This record gives sequence, C-alpha cells and structure tokens, in this order.
Amino acid sequence: MSLPAVPVSQSPEDKFREFLTSRSPAQRLTEQQREMVRFIFAQHHHFDADQLMEGLKQAGLVISRATVYRTLTKLVEAGLLRKIELGPRMCYEHDYGYPHHEHLHCARCNKMIEFQSPKIEEALRDICAQQAFKASGYTLLIRGICAECTKAKVSRRLLDLV
Ligand SMILES: [Zn+2]
Ligand SMILES: [Zn+2]
Repeated sequence: MSLPAVPVSQSPEDKFREFLTSRSPAQRLTEQQREMVRFIFAQHHHFDADQLMEGLKQAGLVISRATVYRTLTKLVEAGLLRKIELGPRMCYEHDYGYPHHEHLHCARCNKMIEFQSPKIEEALRDICAQQAFKASGYTLLIRGICAECTKAKVSRRLLDLV
C-alpha cells in the first residue's frame, strides 16, 4: 500500500547529484550509484540492504555490498531515503517525493502498513512546545500482528477444534 506521492521539482537522481557536488570535497555521481537510485525510486516499498542487494542482482546490476551500504548512507544524508529501525534490522524507504507517515509492522508476515495521522503530529508538536524542545525528527513504529494474520490464526484455531 502506497500513499499518494508528493510533487517534487527534481528527479531523485538530480537531487542526489546535487547533494554529492555540494559536499567538500565535491563527489561525483558514479554510474553504479545512478543505477542504484533509479532502481530504488522505480517503486515505493520498504526494503533492507539484503533485499536491495537481491533486487539489484535480479535486475542484472552488479554492485558490491560495500558500495550498496555506502550509497544507502549517503541517500539518507541527502534526504532521499528515510531509515526505519526494525529491531536489529535497518529498513529504508523513499523520503523524497513521499509524504510523511508512520508505520504498523506485522511481526508475523513482516508487512509494513503506512498511515498518516494529523492528530498524532499535533500531539507531538504540543509536547515539544510544552518542553520548549526543538524537534529534528521522530520515529514511530507500532509493532503487532496485522488483520490478515490475526484472521488466519483464528481460522486455524477453529479448524483445530473440528
Ligand atoms: Zn501479518
Ligand atoms: Zn513507509
């Protein structure tokens, strides 16, 4: 499930190139990085480094693990990707051109459900204001079992009773 995209003025590739040139010393966008950015931004989903490696391999792109990790870190710094901590696992998703949202994570099927809540954002803003706290960001991840997995478990239990 994806939320509606946010219109952006630059392509992810151009934005990343701009980020790299703005660094000191300036870096250039390598062919492999360009392929990676194109691959990542071709569809919206949540992925970890291993899943990305696998996807790149299937697409016929040979990129070393070190390059993948280094590029992921830079994409986060550039504001193109957002990092989500899933226990010991690091998950990534589009940040650029995608609206701010929160997640529900199913521990059974590993599904990530995205939602937006102005009420939560307002509550967090109020809390920060009360503490005169200048927030730079936050992470909210609700852990549990999704509706389908709950249903599957219930029907299995009913079958057991038969
Ligand atoms: Zn599930
Ligand atoms: Zn998401």
